[in-house]
Amino acid sequence: MRIGVLAVQGAFAEHSAKVCQLGAEAVEIRKRHDIQTELDGLILPGGESTAMRKLLTELDLLEPLKEMIQNGLPVFGTCAGMILLAKEISGGGTPCFGTLDISVHRNAYGRQLGSFRCVDIFAGKEIEMPFIRAPYATNVRDNVTVLASHDNRIVAVRQDNQLATAFHPELTEDFTVYEYFFQTIAKRLRK
Ligand code: GLN
Repeated sequence: MRIGVLAVQGAFAEHSAKVCQLGAEAVEIRKRHDIQTELDGLILPGGESTAMRKLLTELDLLEPLKEMIQNGLPVFGTCAGMILLAKEISGGGTPCFGTLDISVHRNAYGRQLGSFRCVDIFAGKEIEMPFIRAPYATNVRDNVTVLASHDNRIVAVRQDNQLATAFHPELTEDFTVYEYFFQTIAKRLRK
């Protein structure tokens, strides 16, 4: 299995490490040439979503990646990655891929609570969730499944081939979210 990890900015190295620990190949995507190889999945890491959107545009990666997502490529966005996927950004802000039927509140936990860890349920299983200046999802449309909430805020969703978490599973020892993502990929490959 070959997973593209967007590596223009942010916490991509931790995602690549997780992918490799699960026995898959991680292809770090920095330029247009890197998406010429066949990919089975794509990870959009945490970082700074506005900087990432700008770089994606400059590097001529935004449109081809959007097309790949629209064509069903399994994609997993964490934190800033969730923001890149979202159709709408509360309070204004330009969407990036805009393929995921949610709105996001950016930096939603205020200054004091900018970063914290908690334990909560993801798809029926308790896992550790590190949040770093995280968003949360609102206006979740009917075609979107909520996979996790924390303090009544939606922090993980799935819509067909798109998975997004407001927290950072790459910063924990747990593989639950990756295994969930890999199952989506395996199902698509079996088709
Ligand atoms: N606050 C960041 C943004 O809006 C996301 C933070 C993160 O990815 N850890 O892009």
